[in-house]
Amino acid sequence: MIDLRSDTVTQPTAAMREAMLRAPLGDDVFGDDPTVNALQERIAQITGKEAALFMPSGTQSNLCALMAHCERGDEYIVGQNAHTYRYEGGGAAVLGSIQPQPLVQNAQGEMALVDIAAAIKPVDCHFARTRLLALENTWNGHAMSQDYLAQATGLARRHGLATHLDGARLFNAAVAQAEGGSVTASVRRIVDHFDSVSVCFSKGLGAPVGSALCGSRELITKALRWRKVLGGGLRQSGLLAAAALHALDHHVDRLADDHALAQRLAQGLQGIAGLSVRSAQTNIVFVDVADGRGPALLEALKAQGVLATGLIGLRFVTHLNVDAAGIDHALACVRGFMQAPVGGATEGLKRSGVY
Ligand SMILES: *Cc1c(COP(=O)(O)O)cnc(C)c1O
Repeated sequence: MIDLRSDTVTQPTAAMREAMLRAPLGDDVFGDDPTVNALQERIAQITGKEAALFMPSGTQSNLCALMAHCERGDEYIVGQNAHTYRYEGGGAAVLGSIQPQPLVQNAQGEMALVDIAAAIKPVDCHFARTRLLALENTWNGHAMSQDYLAQATGLARRHGLATHLDGARLFNAAVAQAEGGSVTASVRRIVDHFDSVSVCFSKGLGAPVGSALCGSRELITKALRWRKVLGGGLRQSGLLAAAALHALDHHVDRLADDHALAQRLAQGLQGIAGLSVRSAQTNIVFVDVADGRGPALLEALKAQGVLATGLIGLRFVTHLNVDAAGIDHALACVRGFMQAPVGGATEGLKRSGVY
């Protein structure tokens, strides 16, 4: 199978598994796991924040951040399609009594500055207390511009709001914007704008499990309490932290390979009639399929061992378990399907229910 559904599907490499087996362990709820502590120090240092907390998932990491920044009756400003608002089960409202104030985003994931300013409520008992601005980078594979990050977080700060970055794919953004310089410097240019950042180890970095929340010591102390409340206090989690440490040592620079493969895929798709590549930055390619053939194309790909997601717009994600041969196979399958007449063999079978 060539699995392009997400970069979460990666399998730990042999070297990563060895690192996990070698890791010294302790009870992390007592703060005793040396590998977890090493990871937390390492990611705090990379992001330039005072402290960090290892988390079982990005969802829990974002939720702990929201709950650490906001109290009951506070609100956070967030993109209408942002992960923390749309794809995390409404956790901020359900578990944090935090009111989301979602705003429309453009194709780059940006909320208009005027919309952000208008959404910040005056101090008045009629209103929820606007406390936090949350952004997401990369956004659908797009690395947000430094200008926008500076302007949006500057606006938030002038109004006394805290700022959080859902940086699930922060390292993809940093590698894409490193421009030959150091990736850590690029990471810092992004996260210096924010009070807190959540990063995933389980996506392009290739670890099986885990995220980290980074921020001030005070924020992380609050987040530690919420992580425990949410059931995220883990014991010998150094086994997992070892995988994340290994990923930071060996899988950051190679994200450039994933980005190159996404470009290879995008360029191939661009040449196929009936497809239009919507965006292809970092490791995610979105493509629109004409004549409502998206679902049938997905089925045809699956039958040939290629997995992707989507409906009208399909999504392909590259990662460390995909290579150029896999991308070329996927392209050949897409080309074959799109060149066959509409309602051809595969689609016909599908309509008749045989497929
Ligand atoms: C994957 C992802 C998360 C966290 O997801 P988990 O599956 O809970 O680890 C958060 N934000 C974004 C933008 C993501 O892509």
